Amino acid sequence: MKIIVVGSGLMGVTTAYYLSEQGHEVIVVDRQPGPAQETSFANACVLHPSQASPWNHPGVAWQILKWMGKENSPFLLRPSAIPSLLKWGLTFLHHSKPERFHANLKVNTLLANYNIECVEELKKQHPFDYCAQGLGSMKVLGNEQELEIAIEQIALFQDMGIECKALDQAEVFNKEPALVENGSKLVGGIFYPKDQTGDAHEFCQKLAELAKLKQVEFKYDVNVEEFLTANNKITGIKTSKGDYSADAYVLAAGSYSPLLAKSLKLKLPIRPIKGYSITLEMDDWELKPQMPVIDEEAHVAITPLGNRLRAAGTAELNGYNSEINAHRIQMVLQQVIARYPEAGVNIEGANINAWAGLRPTTADGVPIMGETPIKNLYLNTGHGHLGWSLAMASGKIVADIINGSNPAISIAPYSLTRF
Ligand SMILES: Cc1cc2nc3c(=O)[nH]c(=O)nc-3n(C[C@H](O)[C@H](O)[C@H](O)COP(=O)(O)OP(=O)(O)OC[C@H]3O[C@@H](n4cnc5c(N)ncnc54)[C@H](O)[C@@H]3O)c2cc1C
Repeated sequence: MKIIVVGSGLMGVTTAYYLSEQGHEVIVVDRQPGPAQETSFANACVLHPSQASPWNHPGVAWQILKWMGKENSPFLLRPSAIPSLLKWGLTFLHHSKPERFHANLKVNTLLANYNIECVEELKKQHPFDYCAQGLGSMKVLGNEQELEIAIEQIALFQDMGIECKALDQAEVFNKEPALVENGSKLVGGIFYPKDQTGDAHEFCQKLAELAKLKQVEFKYDVNVEEFLTANNKITGIKTSKGDYSADAYVLAAGSYSPLLAKSLKLKLPIRPIKGYSITLEMDDWELKPQMPVIDEEAHVAITPLGNRLRAAGTAELNGYNSEINAHRIQMVLQQVIARYPEAGVNIEGANINAWAGLRPTTADGVPIMGETPIKNLYLNTGHGHLGWSLAMASGKIVADIINGSNPAISIAPYSLTRF
């Protein structure tokens, strides 16, 4: 079969890779000059089945209201974004009910666990370098009450197949000696031995190279304007460089998927949630961090990637605005300096490499994959803050569905029909 994949981020590239493995003829089309140039470019790089919780957790409504309009808040809703969020927002809040939240957490965790299997399989077959590390990850907590809640949740996570261990303060510092308690308290943490890290951008580039060797054709600098249709079937895509056609199509355009689906009268409940990252070179550091750390209070993940340190986080509902807001970059930087004072040494003039990306976030916090009401159109999108943790599994499942094979896990909870 000939298949066109729209998007060469994590979802597009992984889907194309698996489709080519199954012997299909694949063309990937992207408006960027290379793979993983948008949201998959500079994320926190943690593959964490342990953190597969949707962001619409119980109590989120109160939290967002409390933080509204506050520039320093980790989750910022800008009033100008409200009109674009009405229906999506109500569904988002509906899914923050405890029973919905737990059901969604479970299906994300199932997918993230399967993802680790897919990544391990790939590593065995093609051991390419993407700064991969398998040291696990550690969540650090700033007060006793949060630590107690996290400890109470250990049994729930273990039931879902996530290994975890509570750590006291000394054990946290022992695991990551570069961490300090610098004004901001740190009482303990939770260690997740099975989590991994790796540079998502580098991974995507190398997987795309591998896919090219399997005859996948990548058409870059090509903007897809719309899908062409007849008789409830896609007949082609209209692009800035002419029309292309195939037997089947995969929409993997991240936050822009709903915009492309609009002309098909297909409503995808996905909205962009902006996040920021900074990347620091650690050449002159005496004590380099080794372990990815998720700082619960600061809402940032800080990940060593070889000689670089990546810190990413914060959430901002601000429509499709992808500008880098210097104030929010400073917030992330200050949080890194608070935990790793060496980050603050010689920071003047240092290259901070600031970045912003739009997380394609569904109204229930679970990605959308598989068939659509349009016969030959498939989706692989809406992975929100979890795309790196879910990409290989999602690519494999969508490829299996197109190929007519049975996916390893049931597609129903991820299907568009759930909305
Ligand atoms: C700050 C931050 C930190 C994160 N940290 C983590 C983490 O630690 N772990 C984790 O699991 N996830 C993390 N994520 C989430 C993860 O990065 C995303 O879920 C993932 O990158 C989404 O991949 P995607 O392929 O769906 O979208 P994208 O990477 O955005 O790819 C979509 C592609 O479609 C193309 N496209 C769009 N419209 C068109 C068009 N009209 N024509 C042609 N091409 C088009 C774009 O150019 C782009 O290349 C983080 C995200 C952010 C922002």
